[in-house]
Amino acid sequence: MQLMEEKILAEGQILPGGILKVGSFLNQQIDTDFLRAMGQEIARLFSGSGVTKILTIEASGIAIAAAAAMELGVPMLFAKTDRTTNVDGSVCSTVVRSFTHGTDYTVVVSRDYLRPEDTVLLVDDFLANGAALRGLVALCEQAGAAVAGAAIAIEKAFQGGGDTLRRSGVRVESLAVIESMEDGKLSFRH
Ligand code: 5GP
Repeated sequence: MQLMEEKILAEGQILPGGILKVGSFLNQQIDTDFLRAMGQEIARLFSGSGVTKILTIEASGIAIAAAAAMELGVPMLFAKTDRTTNVDGSVCSTVVRSFTHGTDYTVVVSRDYLRPEDTVLLVDDFLANGAALRGLVALCEQAGAAVAGAAIAIEKAFQGGGDTLRRSGVRVESLAVIESMEDGKLSFRH
């Protein structure tokens, strides 16, 4: 998505540890016209895939997931980062390693909302090592739901998660794919 690349080049800040900051349009302040355009692009990519629900992780995936869900006309569901344990089997839960904090956290979603009959599109803001997406795939497996694929705003290809997921058979579509971010210079994969 050309506009995504332009936004990253104009407003993104490269931080140590291979982190890109996009607080001006996606992660803190949200450019709402651009958010709508992202939702439309995701809906275009996955129209005809039989998606019945969109699944993301709170909190940074919620805005883009909601934008895509509105365009596809399906509900948006977010996994909560609660420590609630699965005592009665009414939730699906898994542990995810946070890329930005380096710690493990539990993500939980109710079986009332993630159903065996669902075909799920996974959505997130960033894809780095792929831990967050693998966690979402695991939640769908526990629920018995099908995964239509994953739509990501910004994939950092040099951290490998996207290509590993593609090799495992998941359809991963990223609106921008950063090939490298070395010495303050960004290059994109096309
Ligand atoms: P992964 O689980 O694929 O290693 O990392 C993806 C998750 O980490 C995303 O949900 C996102 O919140 C966070 N993340 C990874 N890399 C970045 C980054 O460069 N910038 C920001 N803002 N978040 C990131």
